[in-house]
Amino acid sequence: MNTLEQMIERGHERVCFHQDPDTGLRAIVAIHSTALGNALGGTRRWHYATEADALYDVLRLSEGMTYKAAAAGLAMGGAKSVILLPKPGHKGTESEGRAMGRFVDNFHGEYIAAEDVGVNTQFVDWMAMETKHVMGGETVSHGGDPSPYTAQGTVNAMKACLAHLGKPVSFSGVKVAIQGVGSVGYNVARILKQDGAELIVADINDANLERVVEDFGATVVKPNEIIAAECDILAPCALGGVINGNMASKLNAPIVCGAANNILDDPDEDSAMLKSAGVLYAPDFVANAGGLIRLAGLYLGMTEPQLNQKIEDIETTMLQILKDADKAGSTHASAIAFANTRIAAGAKHKTRAGQEVGAN
Ligand code: NAD
Repeated sequence: MNTLEQMIERGHERVCFHQDPDTGLRAIVAIHSTALGNALGGTRRWHYATEADALYDVLRLSEGMTYKAAAAGLAMGGAKSVILLPKPGHKGTESEGRAMGRFVDNFHGEYIAAEDVGVNTQFVDWMAMETKHVMGGETVSHGGDPSPYTAQGTVNAMKACLAHLGKPVSFSGVKVAIQGVGSVGYNVARILKQDGAELIVADINDANLERVVEDFGATVVKPNEIIAAECDILAPCALGGVINGNMASKLNAPIVCGAANNILDDPDEDSAMLKSAGVLYAPDFVANAGGLIRLAGLYLGMTEPQLNQKIEDIETTMLQILKDADKAGSTHASAIAFANTRIAAGAKHKTRAGQEVGAN
């Protein structure tokens, strides 16, 4: 399928390719929707086997951002960008970051860049030397690392799952298995430990594992054991595509609620299969919106209490989505329907940045 056909199929407004001969930068910005306003989405630096893979990734991720922002009640559309690295692990430089910043600046704020895989606060600050339409840096731009906010939102989503199943909304004695204890997973562990949870963790990075064992007394299992760990909540906080419907019978957790993007291989099919197997799946783009709320909210000029409220609202939004899932067929379908309702309502009176949509 050619690029325009793919855009039409997914409903993208704009996809721009860029190459900078001086630095060798090759990048794509995909704007999926500006129905609710300008669009904030991370910049991913990755070595893709083919250009088609990079295009597929940026189209899929930017579409996801539209639903994430809408479900979070932000006056934001959905977009994302990718930088195509010449080899795996290619180190970012100031000149590459600044070249990307100049590319981002071409969109005059319709696209706002931020962190993603391969992009840290330093890289964000390099981009910010060339454009003001960047969030998540620490010196030139602002917002910093969004991970603690993503983690808080994920824990709020877990509370909704407990409530939906009629359990006490408390983590005291609740066993949570966390796959991946990097930036977000570590903070999920920290918040849950404070609230009395028992932690089971796995990671392929020994230093990250040692940190949660030392700080929170977590029990370690092997990376290939975590998905089937016996627990109350399974929290994938590492990679995408870790669960599919066929694994439903192998899960020993009544709830799957984590921060990873694209937890399910095929969200439509897999969430329906999980539902019929009696596993409650919390749609990832609702659970992990805390970081986006933080950065987009700051960009839109929200106050600290407004930002905190929006992250708290993830719990009520998730509860509503889980309730509606009985009619929608799956929790994923219910979350998409929830986001689309907000997009349709917001798009009618588009588009002054800073304006909020929805009740939450
Ligand atoms: P990170 O790179 O800091 O942490 C990921 C951790 O997962 C690392 O410790 C890594 O070693 C571990 N890991 C990788 N493969 C693993 C495996 N097979 N088994 C066990 N552990 C494994 O990334 P992060 O920022 O914490 O993000 C985690 C996930 O959450 C990603 O999917 C990301 O897209 C998503 N997410 C992050 C944010 C954010 O604010 N950082 C926001 C929304 C979504």
